[in-house]
Amino acid sequence: MSAATHLVGYDDAMAAFDPVFGIEVHVELNTKTKMFCGCENTFGNEPNTQVCPVCLGLPGSMPVTNEKAVESAIRLGLALGCSIRESSRFARKNYFYPDLAKDYQISQYDEPTCYEGELEVVLDDGTVVMIGIERAHMEEDAGKNTHVGGTGGIQGASHSLVDYNRGGVPLVEIVTKPIEGMGERTAEVARAYVATIRDIVRALGISDGRMEQGRLRADVNLSLRAKAAPGEDQSAVPFGKRSETKNVNSLRAVERSIHYEAGRQAALLLAGEPVVQETRHWHEDTSSTTPGRSKEEAEDYRYFPEPDLLPVEPSREWVEQLRASIPEHPAKMRARLREEWGFSDLEMRDAVAADALTLIADTVAAGAAPQAARKWWMGELARTANEQDVELPELAVTPADIAQLQGLVDEGKINDKLARQVLEGVLAGEGSPADVVASRGLEVVSDDSALEAAVDEALAAQPDVLDKIREGKVQAAGAIVGAVMKATRGQADAGRVRAIILARAGVEG
Ligand code: ZN
Ligand code: MN
Repeated sequence: MSAATHLVGYDDAMAAFDPVFGIEVHVELNTKTKMFCGCENTFGNEPNTQVCPVCLGLPGSMPVTNEKAVESAIRLGLALGCSIRESSRFARKNYFYPDLAKDYQISQYDEPTCYEGELEVVLDDGTVVMIGIERAHMEEDAGKNTHVGGTGGIQGASHSLVDYNRGGVPLVEIVTKPIEGMGERTAEVARAYVATIRDIVRALGISDGRMEQGRLRADVNLSLRAKAAPGEDQSAVPFGKRSETKNVNSLRAVERSIHYEAGRQAALLLAGEPVVQETRHWHEDTSSTTPGRSKEEAEDYRYFPEPDLLPVEPSREWVEQLRASIPEHPAKMRARLREEWGFSDLEMRDAVAADALTLIADTVAAGAAPQAARKWWMGELARTANEQDVELPELAVTPADIAQLQGLVDEGKINDKLARQVLEGVLAGEGSPADVVASRGLEVVSDDSALEAAVDEALAAQPDVLDKIREGKVQAAGAIVGAVMKATRGQADAGRVRAIILARAGVEG
């Protein structure tokens, strides 16, 4: 066995060698139909119910390119700073695997639609790294194999099932150039890059980017090369042999897979053993990789032009129209909003993590103060979403509702306690906040004669309170405020009640 039985720690590996990495990200597009046929593109249906002769590769069936998928791919390419090729052909990438019904995948080879881009990636401490993009090409997804039952066979299973629903789903594959010179920040940069891609596809609205459901998948290439001698140019040192860790399906796993691979490769190199160029499988449970197949080269796939499809030839006018629809870079948008809203770093991070930025922005646009909008979405509504086990945007309340609710609080029509009851009503489908206030009769009682009567009644039950206030124990008024709130079922204006009590005691408020 290998002499390199002990892994080298990540920091030691990065100190001893110069890491070079590259990432391939596959993004599943959220088009209504598949890439080359009319089958529905939805996730999680009964296996093999969204298939047709085209995506099953039956003889005589003819593919037709999905225009919406081309539009999404071009918009993504533009957001990555890519050039858009005037004419690009699809190619057949030939290989056999049971999830690939045609025995070839329709992809793009020497003529990717989007090429030569550059993406700004902002790290947690604000450092900006430029990542070179080699290409972003269109292709179709394969089906899905599931290995089940018993022991032995593939991955310990007795047999395998294949579901072709995913076969033919539109993908964009984004390939970076080799990224050098990141040293011990390599894993952090890789993670931030994938996070940025995820943010961008969401901002473009072309994919939900959910890694846990495989809609955004990363393959992580890493190699280590010798450090240049002092005074020598590092870029003159040839790259080491790389491993490609496949289907890394969370941001954390992107980071961890690089930690593991750096340690594994460094241990081999320090023991004088070669690193084998191969694909490797990521294991989430053990945070480690195991060998897959030895890496094939492009010629193994016998790429050739797809004869059944027309070339993709987007007009320059169309490309410029699409360019005008590209949203602001997510990191820049976050920095701008944080500044405009006056949020702390922590408040901003929490809002991003809860997927609440758009909701807060829309609530602010509907007239609420940013902090008030944040408190509703990150407080009461986050709790409700958690209880109902849904995402924030799925709640039965709109940003306009929340802005109206806060407006009622600001006008003094309802207090915080009533506002929560109003929100309950809105979530229960009783209409807008104003509707619920009217139908449930939840308006704050600020009519002085009604409040004065309630205060006098409470004072009659606790006659010593006025003397205590006159002696300087102003906090004694709290008992009367509480009694009045109880008597009015929380609908009294607490500030007004307090002022009336102090007036009764002859004390300035
Ligand atoms: Zn189909
Ligand atoms: Mn691919």
